[in-house]
Amino acid sequence: MHQAQQANPLLDAIDDLTIVHIITTPIDDGKTHYEKHEGLIKQLREAIASNIGGIAAGKPPHERIPLDPDALQKYEQIEKAIGERYLAFLEKVPGVYPEQNLREWYVEFSNQHRAGKLSDETYDDELKTMQSWVRIITEKLSPPTVLEIPNEECPECGFDWYLTVLNISKRELRINPKNTDWVNKKSIDEEGSRNWVERELKPTLTITFKPDGKGGLSTSFAKCGCCNHVWMGSTGIRALAYSIENPESEKEVS
Ligand SMILES: [Zn+2]
Repeated sequence: MHQAQQANPLLDAIDDLTIVHIITTPIDDGKTHYEKHEGLIKQLREAIASNIGGIAAGKPPHERIPLDPDALQKYEQIEKAIGERYLAFLEKVPGVYPEQNLREWYVEFSNQHRAGKLSDETYDDELKTMQSWVRIITEKLSPPTVLEIPNEECPECGFDWYLTVLNISKRELRINPKNTDWVNKKSIDEEGSRNWVERELKPTLTITFKPDGKGGLSTSFAKCGCCNHVWMGSTGIRALAYSIENPESEKEVS
């Protein structure tokens, strides 16, 4: 009797990392929507040059560097770790693409494990590592969702909106080479406004939702863009929500 195909979480993780997946979603009229997803390592490689959700995401295009240093660093770490595994198991020169090397390593690794040459602990360690790579890349590829909270005053600084400087003329940069205070939205004065300045009025309070890989809010935070106060995690976000809903508790009654 044939056994149902056994679960193989290590191969699942390797597949997520290395090969194309077709995601099918049934749509209303009985049809199916097909979406092609490249392997995660390839997606991470492509993200290096695309700057998704990086620190530069809020900057105007000409100020962005055409490179996401965080994606590059993660890619290089994973590429190096795969190279080391490859050399430890296969006595030949690795190929150009880490995803191909990882698949070749997997075949040799699982053969040796089946043959009893590797302990179950070693196998479990590799499973954990591969699953952590899937998680790291997935989180990297899902840029955080930023929710603006307009018209609410920051409990710390009392501002509800602030002006942010998007761009400023070079002439002004020369006038104030050391005075970085002009960047501070609260201190834009007459002198600053004489030159060409591009500004944007933004709500001070924002909530940034970032997946923490555990389905929780531990890496999400609320922030005031004006005074830069940060409320970290679900506890912090709840505390901010409480202060907004109960402004009297924060201020003295005059
Ligand atoms: Zn504030």
